[in-house]
Amino acid sequence: MEFDLTAHLKFSNDLPLEADSELQKAVDDANDALFIKGVPRDSIKEAARIIEWHAHANELCVRIVSGRYTRAHDALLRFKKAVGTTMGTKYRIGVRGYEIDEFTIKIEVETPVRIELPFVKQASYEDKLLTLQLSVGEQEIEKKIPDRIVNLIEEKIEHQLYGTKVENWDLIWESPQKESHFRRDPTQELQERQWIKHGVSRGQWIFGPQVTKVFNTFEEIIEKEILARLGYSEMIFPKMVPWEVWKRSGHARGIYPEIYYVSPPKTRDPEYWEDVIDYYKVTNEIPLELIRQKIDDPIGGMCYAQCPSFWPFMQGETISLESLPIKVFDRSGTSHRYESGGIHGIERVDEFHRIEIVWIGSPEQVNKEAHKLEKRYARIFNDILDLEWRMARVTPWFMAQEGLIEAAGDRSAGTIDYEAYLPYRGERTDSQWLEFQNVSVNGDKYPRGFNVKTQKGDLWSGCSGIGLERWAAAFFAQKGLDIELWPQKFAKRIKKLPEGIKFL
Ligand code: ATP
Ligand code: ZN
Ligand code: MG
Repeated sequence: MEFDLTAHLKFSNDLPLEADSELQKAVDDANDALFIKGVPRDSIKEAARIIEWHAHANELCVRIVSGRYTRAHDALLRFKKAVGTTMGTKYRIGVRGYEIDEFTIKIEVETPVRIELPFVKQASYEDKLLTLQLSVGEQEIEKKIPDRIVNLIEEKIEHQLYGTKVENWDLIWESPQKESHFRRDPTQELQERQWIKHGVSRGQWIFGPQVTKVFNTFEEIIEKEILARLGYSEMIFPKMVPWEVWKRSGHARGIYPEIYYVSPPKTRDPEYWEDVIDYYKVTNEIPLELIRQKIDDPIGGMCYAQCPSFWPFMQGETISLESLPIKVFDRSGTSHRYESGGIHGIERVDEFHRIEIVWIGSPEQVNKEAHKLEKRYARIFNDILDLEWRMARVTPWFMAQEGLIEAAGDRSAGTIDYEAYLPYRGERTDSQWLEFQNVSVNGDKYPRGFNVKTQKGDLWSGCSGIGLERWAAAFFAQKGLDIELWPQKFAKRIKKLPEGIKFL
């Protein structure tokens, strides 16, 4: 990687001719010491160097080249400060600002990546070298735009190499195999029995009384075996999520293809909407074009992951040590995702129901709590639901993207996915299992994003999303729909399924 920038620093007054010797000294000091500060010994070659300079009237023009670090634009900031001090002391002349005349970044890339980025005025690819010409000023340098551009390109390269959003998958535990008498796709069976019907919207189901009873029983089990036992308090998290929250939670970095966007009306003045109303009354058609003109840009979207909406409750606060660990959960509403084509069953839907558990504390507390949850979950899946399931450690895209794993400096940050075997999909070894929930230790991602601190020490958090549709899909796929054949402990909790609705 190579950075090559030419900038001119502007001074409050003309630089006197005799200042040349001081300027030369400032340049030498920068090259020999200032730019090398903090650079690991084996990377000194990478450090920035001023390779050309000249002064003229009130401007000092410098060309700085570097490798990975100290990067040329960081070097420029260091140099600006240093030379400002020198000229200030000796001649009472200060640096007023600077302009970047040229800024080129070269990155080695095996295969071409698509580059269409703000502040990149030109990009070319030749001989496995990507060359970017940046168009940036002081503001963009201060805001670290060049580094973001480099990070993004590295992310794109990595994405090309590793593809999908899961970076790795390590099995940590698996249950014994369970005999299953049922091998059908449960969604088909549920539809045939008319326990569920398609909702009118995409990827949406209307759950009849029998399935609702099963969902509620899952919730009761979770409440009794986990939430009450481990001391979690229920809260109500908002379900319409503004951009501000997703910017802080990190979701703004990637979820656009899956968002259900929310746009408010431009005004609630009935007169403003009268033509829409009249049009509908006359034609019985919704005048979409007209409506489009009368609504604002999206202010955000429908709940995607539950916990981000909780964090503004903590935002800017310092938590008393007494309150730690904090343990809360939410089950107050649906989550919505625009899923890809394969939305046929209840396991991948656009509207789903989930209990989200959130805990906050010191890194030790957060890890300890995650292990407690894992134990309680294992009990439910083994003793009550009698499932065939497994746990795997994965790196979800957001953690990879945010460099969280390294940032946390601890391998205990990460996600555990819970997966269930679905007999109808084929053999255990070559069929895809269903992720039905997860337990994540998120390191300091949320406290950092929402600026939350504690009296003393680091603050971490964790969350666990329990998808009711996914639990149901896993359970029905392995145990079928006949309560007489269900594991006794679960059937006992259900007692009796409601009759349901009969159609002629
Ligand atoms: P997948 O890879 O299956 O799409 P995901 O990685 O997107 O899952 P997460 O973002 O980790 O899932 O969401 C947490 C939990 O929310 C999942 O374990 C699952 O229980 C539930 N969930 C996510 N997406 C859906 C969906 N489309 N339908 C039903 N439940 C879902
Ligand atoms: Zn969460
Ligand atoms: Mg998904």
